[in-house]
Amino acid sequence: MGLRTPEQYKASLKDGREVYYRGERVPDVTTHPVIGVAVEHACIDYHMAEDPRYRDLAVVTDPQSSEPYSRYYYLPRNAEDLLQRSRLIAASTREGATLVVLIKEIGTDALFALHVVAEEMAKRGKPEYRERVQKYYQLCRDRDYGVAVAQSDVKGDRSLGPQGQEHPDYYLHVVDQRQDGIVVRGAKVHTSVSTNTDEVIVLPTRAMRAGDEAYAVAFALPIATKGLKLLASAYGGFKKDPFEFPISAQHKMMETLTVFDDVFVPWERVFMCGEVEAAGFLALTFVKFHRFTAVSYKLPLLELLAGSARAVAEYNGVESAGHIREKLTELAAYHATVQGLIIAAAHQHVVVPPGIAVPNTLLTNVAKYQFASNYHNAVQMVQDVSGGLLVTGPSVEDWRSEATGPYVRKYLGGKKGIPTEHRLRMLNLISDLTASDFGGYQEVLAVHAEGSLEAEKLQTYREYDFGAAAAYARELAGIK
Ligand SMILES: Cc1cc2nc3c(=O)[nH]c(=O)nc-3n(C[C@H](O)[C@H](O)[C@H](O)COP(=O)(O)OP(=O)(O)OC[C@H]3O[C@@H](n4cnc5c(N)ncnc54)[C@H](O)[C@@H]3O)c2cc1C
Repeated sequence: MGLRTPEQYKASLKDGREVYYRGERVPDVTTHPVIGVAVEHACIDYHMAEDPRYRDLAVVTDPQSSEPYSRYYYLPRNAEDLLQRSRLIAASTREGATLVVLIKEIGTDALFALHVVAEEMAKRGKPEYRERVQKYYQLCRDRDYGVAVAQSDVKGDRSLGPQGQEHPDYYLHVVDQRQDGIVVRGAKVHTSVSTNTDEVIVLPTRAMRAGDEAYAVAFALPIATKGLKLLASAYGGFKKDPFEFPISAQHKMMETLTVFDDVFVPWERVFMCGEVEAAGFLALTFVKFHRFTAVSYKLPLLELLAGSARAVAEYNGVESAGHIREKLTELAAYHATVQGLIIAAAHQHVVVPPGIAVPNTLLTNVAKYQFASNYHNAVQMVQDVSGGLLVTGPSVEDWRSEATGPYVRKYLGGKKGIPTEHRLRMLNLISDLTASDFGGYQEVLAVHAEGSLEAEKLQTYREYDFGAAAAYARELAGIK
């Protein structure tokens, strides 16, 4: 068991992994001008484990060996475990200036789900998966690995499943079964943090049916595996000054198109192979944990929307105007609603074999839906309070130049007593958060990451007790 230092983590990424950025092979992700920012961002996790302010939250001790390990790997047993995990996720996202770190959050969501599904498969006469999952979990925990999750397939025609697509590789599938393992082909997409994790866990993205056996597959691989190619996302990618881009100059997350070009996976790393009836169960169980992670990491962002709107309203001298107070109230209620639902989801968890606490699925999906469906409206309110300087303001070079700086200082002040610099810094923060390439990224992340709006609505519909509600309505209507 052990905890790695940030330096050990970074050194582990120099392993010959096949990463491409804008068509070119990246020799070293840690020194790459764009991906390197994401690596430093991910280091937050390892820094927090060393930081006395966070040590108790970020690290747990194994009762048998007395060895410390990352709390992310702690299997939740009750509401308090879920809440501590949620607090850690929120605290690290706060350290990341509202951008989630994710190098262990998502991987452990998948590991929890794999434990649950492997237990179920053991009951159905396949105990080998349970042993493999446990061993793999211990490996990741003991080496303090960062683990990405590749669930989303490229999917081709969305109205079709794996069968009937223009070509068979739109969903990742097994192309060969050998004595020592399987060979897989296909591509996953939107795979977060994979440029800078040690491992990737691959899960099915949907329920499967008879005939889909080759697609019902789950496994894990080191990122530096022959045939595994990562095509990194291209958004942003220019050097940013922290004065102008206070968040995105120093915080970044990479996603990849993750290509499996006939990749060999040894059996000890295969967690599902052909069990079509379990594919949907695994996909959904992962999502149950992952949406709880999602709403947990949204909290600093929602606090920042409310806080920055309040601050800029004051700097603009409009904090007492009726419509501004109304908008601030809505932003506060937005934050408090999601926060309250997270706490309730943890308290109303269910414990499933092998003794893992699953956050309440209905409340988690309602929280995620509340967040996602209101995000653009919240951004609009913050932008409304801020004014148009979010996109028309002068640059950091203008601010620093002897020729132009004095004009910027003189003309872009706000309320009496507020230094122009404070007003500009606040506007730059809001611009970075809502009107930059990073702001656009946040908006798409809000709508799609951890499942689209419709996916959350579907789960809400399925989980809500309409039977009881309709019975109550019938009773009041006098219908026996
Ligand atoms: C920033 C970011 C990070 C992400 N990180 C990860 C990650 O780490 N790992 C991972 O596996 N995934 C990740 N995702 C993927 C995320 O879960 C998907 O984006 C999401 O599930 C939507 O899938 P899609 O992008 O393919 O969109 P689509 O599925 O194409 O959705 C587009 C629209 O089509 C609708 N639609 C799709 N299928 C149907 C259908 N059959 N019938 C009717 N309507 C349909 C949807 O509801 C939506 O309105 C990430 C996404 C983002 C944006």
